[in-house]
Amino acid sequence: MSRPEQVTVLGATGSIGLSTLDVIARHPERYQAFALSGFTRLAELLALCVRHRPRFAVVPDELAARGLQADLRAAGLSTEVLLGEEGLCQVASHPEVDAVMAAIVGAAGLRPTLAAVEKGKKILLANKEALVMTGALFMQAVRKSGSVLLPIDSEHNAIFQCLPGDFARGLGAVGVRRILLTASGGPFRQTPLAELEHVTPEQACAHPNWSMGRKISVDSASMMNKGLELIEACWLFDARPDQVEVVIHPQSVIHSLVDYVDGSVLAQLGNPDMRTPISNALAWPERIDSGVAPLDLFAVARLDFQAPDEQRFPCLRLARAAAEAGGSAPAMLNAANEVAVAAFLERRIRYPEIASIIEDVLSREAVVAVDELDAVFAADAKARALTEQWLSRNGR
Ligand code: NDP
Ligand code: MG
Repeated sequence: MSRPEQVTVLGATGSIGLSTLDVIARHPERYQAFALSGFTRLAELLALCVRHRPRFAVVPDELAARGLQADLRAAGLSTEVLLGEEGLCQVASHPEVDAVMAAIVGAAGLRPTLAAVEKGKKILLANKEALVMTGALFMQAVRKSGSVLLPIDSEHNAIFQCLPGDFARGLGAVGVRRILLTASGGPFRQTPLAELEHVTPEQACAHPNWSMGRKISVDSASMMNKGLELIEACWLFDARPDQVEVVIHPQSVIHSLVDYVDGSVLAQLGNPDMRTPISNALAWPERIDSGVAPLDLFAVARLDFQAPDEQRFPCLRLARAAAEAGGSAPAMLNAANEVAVAAFLERRIRYPEIASIIEDVLSREAVVAVDELDAVFAADAKARALTEQWLSRNGR
């Protein structure tokens, strides 16, 4: 290989960003961090720049940029600091970039991810919210530019590994009956329903198997994460919502399965460590060392499965309904969820209210077609405004 692959890591200071940089550092002959972005954790961003010496660093505003630029100079680095969404789009679409890790959380990651797609970059997609919001438009842009789109979400990466290379011909054509999307059930899988009123953000963020950012941790507790993943799977694999079944598997060892018409069920297993799907996507179609310990099946000893309980996890029902409704529904679901989760993390609402708010917001707006990006942003803005109205109506 002549020159290492140039990788932009959007959301470098987050959980996925750090795992990505860990893998990159294991293979300096193959990969080089080209640009790193941070948002609030700027001391961490500086440390990452010192470690990985990227060409660019991206921060949210002028003040942060001045501080970071001075610190970089003092550390003897020539890394150039760029600003805001424009800076993110620039480093995502830069002509010298080969691959972009889309690991900003939430709708904030959408424009830079699309900027990378439009320039035909290899996309390592962690930012599921971007695909949930824009679905058909995102996939059209991928086809138009010839981008290679590789899923980072562990379940989707598992499904990708269990599907044949020509799955784009259609799931029916390659003999797939259904996709089995596994879910751990999160920290509240067995909590008595009456106690859910009183659970705290700390409890919601204490995931039994995975260490992740706060927003996705709450989504995992409510299973909205699985709902977003259901929508994500429909777009990535051209599946109908009824072809995707959610299976609770508390050990998080099987990361998802594909059920074929001949009765074969293929699964991908591994320790719950995001460096596996990250390495798989970075090196695809090759395999590289990820630093993840080998799976010890004797230590795992057993694998359990159960059906999800919709009373316990109403967000899963809401997400499935949005997947079936299509149009603006997934973007509205996602936006209402982002605002509601932030309110829960700020202790302005109780945990069960996350689902109540989303249901209320979705019931107030008719689903419309979204055939251009402006319509997606309009649906997103409408849902955010309706969620804020709910919060002020209820005195939060
Ligand atoms: P984190 O909260 O740990 O990291 C989020 C990253 O995005 C940080 O770098 C953060 O910067 C940055 N960021 C936050 N808000 C903004 C904004 N408004 N503009 C620009 N940058 C912003 O999240 P995770 O790494 O856990 O998750 C990232 C994405 O990956 C999510 O979409 C999540 O659903 C998905 N994912 C995560 C998995 C995991 O195991 N963690 C598994 C599967 C998917 P800073 O920290 O400096 O504020
Ligand atoms: Mg996942």
